[in-house]
Amino acid sequence: MTATDPESDRWHYRPDHLVPLNPLFSWPPSPRAVWNWYRGAWLQITSLTLCMVMALVVYFAVLPPLESMQSFAFGWMFRIWLINMVAQTLVAGTLHWWLYIRKGQDMKTKFDRRDLTRNNGVFTFNNQVYDNIFWTLGSAMTVATVYQWIIWWAMANGFVATVTFAENPIWCFVWMAFIPMWSGLHFYWVHRLSHHPKLYKYVHAVHHRNVNVGPWSGISNHWYENILYFTTYFIHLIVPSHPLHLLFHNMFQQVSPILSHSGFEKLIVKESEAARSGDFFHQLHHRYFECNYGTSEIPFDRWFGTYHDGTAEATTRTRAFKKQMYTK
Ligand SMILES: [Zn+2]
Ligand SMILES: [Zn+2]
Repeated sequence: MTATDPESDRWHYRPDHLVPLNPLFSWPPSPRAVWNWYRGAWLQITSLTLCMVMALVVYFAVLPPLESMQSFAFGWMFRIWLINMVAQTLVAGTLHWWLYIRKGQDMKTKFDRRDLTRNNGVFTFNNQVYDNIFWTLGSAMTVATVYQWIIWWAMANGFVATVTFAENPIWCFVWMAFIPMWSGLHFYWVHRLSHHPKLYKYVHAVHHRNVNVGPWSGISNHWYENILYFTTYFIHLIVPSHPLHLLFHNMFQQVSPILSHSGFEKLIVKESEAARSGDFFHQLHHRYFECNYGTSEIPFDRWFGTYHDGTAEATTRTRAFKKQMYTK
């Protein structure tokens, strides 16, 4: 990719390489690339490691005992809702403060030139940040919490199979490693469905108000979209899981979009890179809509011809696809 590619003029910052996809699915196989991909994802501060740490903290310090969840009672149900609200507010609030209020790293690695939108009637309360907080803490956290109540209750009563670490250590690790992939697979199809013109107009458009995204945009979704999006959790009613699997899945589904929508590729604290944050892959989806529906974890977009690699050529192709999609 060269700097003369016209796509580079459309961004304040664009990574100097093509948007990467998980090399596990590349041919010919490259074990070194796969190792680097997973090392990059699990051995530095990324959304995966952050979500794992948060899940562990919740599991050991805050989660009510499973036996207490056998019947629907206010105490534990309130606590589950609170865990979701606090985790979301802590991560999105901190990131928003650092990047957009304190402007701690100015424009370094910021994809879009523009600041978040104020005084614009497209947004609820005429303000992008208030709009996003409202849809995230109101709609998303409510739906996610209700689904989790059902699953915890089913687990506590033994209506679904659960596993313990002592009896199934290998399964525990394998299933944990697959959760991001399951999430990516589920997300790709639910997201493609949301782009059906009818569903898009009334439902998914709420998320796409955010062409220029910020941390609070991650799961700023319409009610109906959240009802679909969080069905990903019901896999734990089928696949035998440990409570930590469900907690990690919750964090991954709710907290990692905060980072992937942060609008910045990297978090820089005191001149050095503190963490990987943003995701140019999904930033391109918000700019051009009909591309990169999934995640880079499983390359569905490459397989189904909707992959945008960050070049002007891909933008031209995406615009043509969008045109034929809406003129059918
Ligand atoms: Zn998005
Ligand atoms: Zn979309």
